[in-house]
Amino acid sequence: MTLAIEGWFTVEPDGTHLIGTRCASCGTVAFPPRTGGCPAPDCPGESMTETRLSRRGRIWSYTVARYPPPEPFVAAEPYTPVTLAAVELAREGIVVLGQVKDLAPDELAVGMEVELTCGPLADGPLVWMWGRAS
Ligand SMILES: [Zn+2]
Repeated sequence: MTLAIEGWFTVEPDGTHLIGTRCASCGTVAFPPRTGGCPAPDCPGESMTETRLSRRGRIWSYTVARYPPPEPFVAAEPYTPVTLAAVELAREGIVVLGQVKDLAPDELAVGMEVELTCGPLADGPLVWMWGRAS
């Protein structure tokens, strides 16, 4: 099993988990995980620890990519439109973009709850995706 981006998520028997970082001083959460100091402008915190993020969230916005992405991205041949959702994580409140899996665009709505899953990119590696909440 090859992950599209090592260190940003993990796929385990209990599901897919996004990996972020949390500031030890103020609790600010960042995704993707970052090294170095806290991203909060007023926080001098220098210690960011790895943390698993919420597996559920609500759709903040979504779109359908009807044209293939430019290189270096690899698109399926023939290209099939990809639905992308920006999802506000339940606990952290940050918004994480991802492909939508097994849900048609007309099934989606802003505010709808979705759950983290994963699926293959066009060239094979797994990436996190947003799917139907169980
Ligand atoms: Zn901080």
